[in-house]
Amino acid sequence: MDAPRDFIREIIVEDLRSGRFDRVHTRFPPEPNAYLHIGHAQAILLNYGIAQEFGGKFNLRFDDTNPEKESAAYVEAIKRDVRWLGADWEDREFYASDYFEQLYRWAEDLIRKGKAYVCDLSPEELSRQRGQLIRDGDRVITPPGMESPYRNRSVEENLDLFRRMRAGEFPEGSRTLRAKIDMAHPNINMRDPVLYRIVYAHHHRTGDAWCIYPTYDWAHGQSDSIERITHSICTLEFENHRPLYDWFLDQLGVHHPRQIEFARLNLTYTVTSKRLLLRLVEEGHVRGWDDPRMPTIAGIRRRGYTPEAIADFARRIGVSKAESIREIELLEHCVREDLNRRAPRRMAVLEPLRVVLTNYPEGKVEWFDAVNNPEDPAAGTRKVPFSRVLYIEREDYMDAPPPGFFRLAPGREVRLRYAYFIRCERAVRDEGGNLLELHCTYDPATRGGNAPDGRKVKATLHWVSAAHAVEGEVRLYDRLFKVPDPLDVPKGEDWITNVNPNSLVVLTGCKLEPSLGNVQPGERFQFERKGYFCVDPDTKPGAPVFNRTVTLRDPWAKAQIKARGAGMRYESPNSDRNA
Ligand code: ATP
Ligand code: MG
Repeated sequence: MDAPRDFIREIIVEDLRSGRFDRVHTRFPPEPNAYLHIGHAQAILLNYGIAQEFGGKFNLRFDDTNPEKESAAYVEAIKRDVRWLGADWEDREFYASDYFEQLYRWAEDLIRKGKAYVCDLSPEELSRQRGQLIRDGDRVITPPGMESPYRNRSVEENLDLFRRMRAGEFPEGSRTLRAKIDMAHPNINMRDPVLYRIVYAHHHRTGDAWCIYPTYDWAHGQSDSIERITHSICTLEFENHRPLYDWFLDQLGVHHPRQIEFARLNLTYTVTSKRLLLRLVEEGHVRGWDDPRMPTIAGIRRRGYTPEAIADFARRIGVSKAESIREIELLEHCVREDLNRRAPRRMAVLEPLRVVLTNYPEGKVEWFDAVNNPEDPAAGTRKVPFSRVLYIEREDYMDAPPPGFFRLAPGREVRLRYAYFIRCERAVRDEGGNLLELHCTYDPATRGGNAPDGRKVKATLHWVSAAHAVEGEVRLYDRLFKVPDPLDVPKGEDWITNVNPNSLVVLTGCKLEPSLGNVQPGERFQFERKGYFCVDPDTKPGAPVFNRTVTLRDPWAKAQIKARGAGMRYESPNSDRNA
């Protein structure tokens, strides 16, 4: 087992050694009220990975106790995403709503034990009476709360009222069922927390069978127990709920999993909270949940990330007890490493400039062998057509090149990848001075890309034959937010102002080599010198659409090498060496 040794795995090893558990069973418990994001991916891979490593089981459980915000569509989206990540729950797909009857019976048990009561306080009064934390410098004070006037109802009265709550005799929000614990407890979660509230909402699975719904606290631990989970792994915000998790299970005397908390994943230049992502979708800041700029699993997938790259990222960041923001550059580094190994290379000109080879015969076509993947000899080669009129990248030409610019300029010679050296003779302009095309000459002696006389060029350009080009659309993405920590705004200001208004650039009329004319959504390529690209589902026959997954430049790898102080020049296998 070459699993990383983090504190969670240490606890599990110790539980197996001590005999607290003789097996490992984890779960991923999403609430179906939004799409999953990269933080959830970490939680999924953690829970699934642990089950695999310890020869245990993994459940997918929908924590569907909030009917107003949940839907079957979200359930389907979540299943698609978990499956895509490779976390296989086999036939262990569960729903908290399937346990509503059992949860209800347990609530009656608590009432009978004198440990729960029906309370008529309004939600506002109830929360006021529970009190709140007061911060005094570094000290946190929690003055005791107030006991509800309904706290000492008899068991009979409580049972009667609770049954009538279920029967729909009372208006929404008029009553709750609360645990009877301790209104002076330093942990506010232990101050007579709510188990049930009255909500007249249609549930996507139970329909109108219920008008009382369990709270997260009441449903979660008991669902874990029913499924015989051993380790209930969740994020740090539930640390304060653990005493309650334990209290309920102890009162009921049922199977008692161990809750373990870890710090949520935060990423720079994005947000990882469903509530905030929902706002981005609803207000139209993005094109939907699966917009390739979104940190949702669906967005990341559409952008061209691989599940392997996400798993690599999750493994590298590990788990911790300390909140932190991880750099998005690391995630991008992981996808570059993965795609570098597997993505076939292609030539695509995103912003075309016409080049006419004045000494190349009209109508002649040569087919050159192009390497599909230098990292993978088994990927072989393909044929690329070459002819008198070509496209190169507009940015690969300058009238007056500054020092350090080695690409095309008047009189300058460069290499066209796999083909010939060409020399720029003259730039052709319209009356307005706009650049129309370049007239160049090629040197037949440099066929294949090398000069027999040993003369060198300092740049190699990608190109596409005009007569053979396929036209396509390419979507380039920048960071979704302008700043690394979008939620860090002055008091009173809205974080939404940090949205980057220029995060999407759509290029149409891009010129693609002919092998890109017949591609399927989800296929990934490296466009030489331009980055990694993935075919978008908007693709129509003969009209491919590509998303740029990531560019080739890798600032993260560069920074690593710098940090190590190695006196070597950074050269990524991907980097564009033709400045
Ligand atoms: P919100 O994003 O609104 O805070 P949530 O992400 O907690 O909601 P859930 O559906 O309850 O929504 O999450 C399912 C599981 O994923 C939980 O166990 C939660 O702890 C875990 N999880 C959620 N966000 C992250 C994150 N950023 N990093 C790691 N795990 C997370
Ligand atoms: Mg949650």
